[in-house]
Amino acid sequence: MLEMKHIKKSFDGIEVLKDISLKVDEGEVLGIIGPSGSGKSTLLRCATNLETQDSGEIHYEGTFGLVFQNFNLFPHFSVMKNITDAPIKVQKRNKEEVYKEARELLKKMGLEDKENAYPHQLSGGQQQRVSIARALAMRPDILFFDEPTSALDPELTGEILKVIKALASEHMTMVIVTHEMNFARNVSDHIIFMDKGVIAEYGTPEEVFGSSNERMKEFLGKFG
Ligand code: ADP
Ligand code: MG
Repeated sequence: MLEMKHIKKSFDGIEVLKDISLKVDEGEVLGIIGPSGSGKSTLLRCATNLETQDSGEIHYEGTFGLVFQNFNLFPHFSVMKNITDAPIKVQKRNKEEVYKEARELLKKMGLEDKENAYPHQLSGGQQQRVSIARALAMRPDILFFDEPTSALDPELTGEILKVIKALASEHMTMVIVTHEMNFARNVSDHIIFMDKGVIAEYGTPEEVFGSSNERMKEFLGKFG
């Protein structure tokens, strides 16, 4: 579904991604963990064309969606317009059909009564569920999340993790950067531990969390 080969990226002469290669199969969930500044967001931004790599190749099948840490909803659009705007204007899909699908997505996200609300009228957790609905409305083949819960209070984090787990059980292909270690361990088929621009560990959750890699142990130690 997604393949990145020998991706390198520098900012101001400093190499932030050092020869990154990875593959994500259809229906797979890849969790990405690692310290702040290790290059996780840059990796997602290269994968989703928000950033251009200096060298290396990226191949993917179909379309992708992206869910950000800070929701990135349009503040002057209603919930409904946030969700339906791109499918109608960019994908040129039938308006009735897009609205019908948007209402189904809102129901799935537990937001059926919020279609006319504006982002500022919603909690952070609700805003993030709208932004997940917005990403899903594009019918993506692969969904990327960059720390989807790190702007949320702990009590709102659980509701987002539940939504992502439900998507995983429906075999949505996903790449998830997260600091929620238990969640990463439970939801992922494979995990990457990024450290200083390299993939320091890759494997199943059992393999990565059981690794004797010193940097990995030091990193996990911070989560208690
Ligand atoms: P992470 O998401 O793991 O915290 P990032 O990918 O955001 O890491 O950042 C990796 C490094 O690249 C950091 O040192 C960061 O300061 C730097 N960086 C990221 N984006 C830019 C940019 N647009 N310009 C300059 N430096 C950047
Ligand atoms: Mg980041």
